[in-house]
Amino acid sequence: MTETVRDGARPTFSFELFPPRDAAAESALVGSTLPALVAAGPEFISVTYGASGSTRDVSLDVLRRVLETEVRPMAHLTCVGSSYAEASRLIREFLDAGVTSFLALRGDPPAGVAEKDVFLGDLGSAGELVQLIHRVQAERMPFRQLDVPGVPSAKRLASGEKVTIAVAAFPNGHPRSRSRAQDLDTLLAKQAAGANLAITQLFFDADDYLGFVDAARAAGVTMRILPGIMPVLSVPRLRRILELTGEREPTELLRALEASDDPAAVGIEHATRLASTLLQGGAPGLHLYTFNRHEAPLAVLAGVGLLPIPEPIGNPLA
Ligand code: FAD
Repeated sequence: MTETVRDGARPTFSFELFPPRDAAAESALVGSTLPALVAAGPEFISVTYGASGSTRDVSLDVLRRVLETEVRPMAHLTCVGSSYAEASRLIREFLDAGVTSFLALRGDPPAGVAEKDVFLGDLGSAGELVQLIHRVQAERMPFRQLDVPGVPSAKRLASGEKVTIAVAAFPNGHPRSRSRAQDLDTLLAKQAAGANLAITQLFFDADDYLGFVDAARAAGVTMRILPGIMPVLSVPRLRRILELTGEREPTELLRALEASDDPAAVGIEHATRLASTLLQGGAPGLHLYTFNRHEAPLAVLAGVGLLPIPEPIGNPLA
């Protein structure tokens, strides 16, 4: 059976942001996207992290912005290329800022580098990073974050909230996976290391997620598995995403995007139908990849009844 909504509770929703690449993107994020996403009342907002630490400062800046709100920030952290000492320092730095939820990732080697070619760090997997985060957090008990002035999420943690350490899951297999069993073993190892939430790679067919969750439950995975959903608003964006993730081409969606004068509307409708089927199938919530824009993810949430219907938005790509 697929996991049902926790205790009959309303499904959760959450968002992913990436660190802005320039001043204009930062001002759009801070002035418009972030306030709109926060106002929707998500469970958390996660912020991606460049493999090898390339976005550390900018990621932390965005997380600090989220910390100023009532919404809990979740920091993606990658460990590829880091020594234990560097990874521990990084975790402490984020904890010092008041961040207490993490998405622990191994991260990919730099382009053109194979696993065996060079030293890729002390931590060989996301599971080892999960353990290190637990260890560093435990060393710091009782939580010093209590002292962080003006940080609402630090107060919530002090009141006994469980620390979230999320990990990635791959319904259609990790690009280097040879079998479903290998993907399930990898996820089980992350849970055994202390992860308590999984967020999936994007996918385009509800059965990909529902079948994967059934198999994960049968294999012993008990943590929540949130489906990652990306409203795809244009053909070039779809092609880029397929290149980055190695996911199969969704033929019908591609055709519909190509044939339409309003591809953004097609992408939102597809994501809304997908989200609705997932919730009906028992998904405990939705994690929306936002591309640092709020209109499409909020329209999807409104479409499945998790938010009020918004005012007409025009073209989200404009
Ligand atoms: P692990 O599962 O620990 O895997 C480590 C390595 O083992 C992999 O790189 C691969 O070589 C191998 N492996 C893993 N699974 C299998 C398998 N089933 N079969 C065979 N070999 C396997 N990357 C970033 O750089 N920054 C981010 O912020 C970021 N956010 C992400 C968020 C989500 C929700 C997801 C799904 C992915 C994200 N990624 C991000 C991409 C991620 O770093 C890569 O997918 C990476 O290859 C695997 O990371 P992992 O944590 O799952 O590693």
